[in-house]
Amino acid sequence: MRSAEYRPGRKLIGRFEHDSELLKSVTDFVKEKGIKAGVFSILGAVKGAIIAYYDQTKHEYREVQLDGPREIVSCTGNISLKNGTQFAHAHIVLADEHGNVKAGHLIRAKVFAAELHLQELLGPELVRKHDELTGLSLWEL
Ligand code: ZN
Repeated sequence: MRSAEYRPGRKLIGRFEHDSELLKSVTDFVKEKGIKAGVFSILGAVKGAIIAYYDQTKHEYREVQLDGPREIVSCTGNISLKNGTQFAHAHIVLADEHGNVKAGHLIRAKVFAAELHLQELLGPELVRKHDELTGLSLWEL
């Protein structure tokens, strides 16, 4: 395990605007607040979303489009730096009207209503770099 040590910074909560894009809103928010590293969780509901599954052989994301309203059962993510700017990485679990869930790497989602809880982390720069082995942008630790 490669690791780094951080200390807690600000704890922020926020309410997303109706019809906003979930991930872009998080990214805009952390840029506005000058947060370069952090962890977050989101609860609420979306009008639709695109999630993805990473094909570990082909090294590419396969997208799944989810149309229609769904509950955000869980959404956790982190903030770090990629290509010199803040990057939000999030995974999401979404439930339909029957309680059936779909989950994966969050590409984008249109907000119905949602709440953010974000913990800023203070310490060394947390930077993502391309990893040859996995094909992913991983933390350079
Ligand atoms: Zn992911």
